[in-house]
Amino acid sequence: MAIYDPKSLKAEEFINHEEILETLRYAEENKHNVELIDSLLEKARPKKTATGVHCEGLTHREASVLLACDIPEKVEEMYRLAEEIKLAFYGNRIVMFAPLYLSNYCVNGCVYCPYHQKNKHICRKKLTQEEIKNEVIALQDMGHKRLAIESGEDPVNNPIEYILDSIKTIYSIQHKNGAIRRVNVNIAATTVENYRKLKEAGIGTYILFQETYHKESYLQLHPTGPKHDYDYHTEAMDRAMEGGIDDVGLGVLFGLELYKYEFAGLLMHAEHLEAVHGVGPHTISVPRIKRADDIDPTVFDNGISDDIFLKIIACIRIAVPYTGMIISTRESQAVRGRALQVGISQISGASRTSVGGYTEEERPHDSEQFDVSDQRTLDEVVRWLMEMGFIPSFCTACYREGRTGDRFMSLCKNGQIQNCCHPNALMTLTEFLADYASEETRKIGHELIEKELAKIPNEKVRQIAAQNIADIKASNRRDFRF
Ligand code: SAM
Repeated sequence: MAIYDPKSLKAEEFINHEEILETLRYAEENKHNVELIDSLLEKARPKKTATGVHCEGLTHREASVLLACDIPEKVEEMYRLAEEIKLAFYGNRIVMFAPLYLSNYCVNGCVYCPYHQKNKHICRKKLTQEEIKNEVIALQDMGHKRLAIESGEDPVNNPIEYILDSIKTIYSIQHKNGAIRRVNVNIAATTVENYRKLKEAGIGTYILFQETYHKESYLQLHPTGPKHDYDYHTEAMDRAMEGGIDDVGLGVLFGLELYKYEFAGLLMHAEHLEAVHGVGPHTISVPRIKRADDIDPTVFDNGISDDIFLKIIACIRIAVPYTGMIISTRESQAVRGRALQVGISQISGASRTSVGGYTEEERPHDSEQFDVSDQRTLDEVVRWLMEMGFIPSFCTACYREGRTGDRFMSLCKNGQIQNCCHPNALMTLTEFLADYASEETRKIGHELIEKELAKIPNEKVRQIAAQNIADIKASNRRDFRF
């Protein structure tokens, strides 16, 4: 039997089945232990320090107790604490991005994904570099600056060279005032050498969803193809970090397995990265399984309600306070609105999940990866965020200034984000308003920016930001950043 060891590089030791079962037992036994729950909430609360604000976070065992707790007042307290933590480190900024599907050719057999190899009726497509250029122009014309590229796994149709060429193409396109300034990558687990090449190509975060941490289920849900190898998949982030990528994004596909099991596994994975590499995950995504071509989500009997989903988000926020949290357009406007209150810091907008979808007038369904619930335009999403008091941010400064991995985390931990990310958010939002927004959105945006400028603590930074904002409005000068 494998022994639990967060520092081990072996999947079965750092995601240890017995440790998860023991955690679930402990959480169940203590789910009404009010004294313990109160002490955990207190431990996780942000504390003022000489240099800023500090948050301790919780271990997978501690956070699992909170997740198991069903005392309504305590759950309410968790929601409030999650919001407080998010405000302490991320303020009211919400980072915007869009996925770009490059190819849906895939040799895997993932039973929940329409790209699975045996699906003969989905239309298979792979974008040429010329088509990528057109997609990127369409995305730039909406106002996007940050993309997550997505692809099926197919060494013949989508080899690493194709992904690298595509990244180069994306970064090279300048159209009007548009530019894609950060490309995150969501492709299948690969080798250290390939991760090194992705790093050299200038990617932002490497994202790979674990799908499920439950090995036995994983093997059944991925019956064929290279993704069947649970250990290779689970150890991918260690290889990515060995290859020099220090921003990695974790995620679980909720609905496949029991959520409490996944939650403990996800946090153990984060603890493992911290223990081995000295830096936890840059982001955590929370996708839920959706209807798609050849896929009926009701077949998977571990689907979770919206309330449980929000509780999971809040408990992740409390456990790993410095990690960005992402929600996609798989979720409806209503769920996204609630999720933003309990910890989400990054959302996609106006997504098309089909290969080549952005250049089509009508939303195409023939090559889609999943049904999109939130189908609003980027302008609508931006306006909606501002009406709720959030600042939509198109900032990509950190990784371009070398603030990745632990350097980003220390900026986040010592509270300097308010003098850095906050003005960057306001300047990039001004770019969006000047170049892409509707009249109504622009008006709301300018009022919000005026109000938010006053909140920049450092006077010098505040003055420079105000000057840059005036320049953006009056000229074609763009891409100011701290
Ligand atoms: N092919 C790569 C891999 O296997 O990791 C990554 C790209 S895949 C296009 C992105 C993610 O979409 C998968 O990791 C999976 O979690 C998610 N996904 C697949 N089928 C889905 C469905 N029916 N509903 C919601 N999300 C789905």
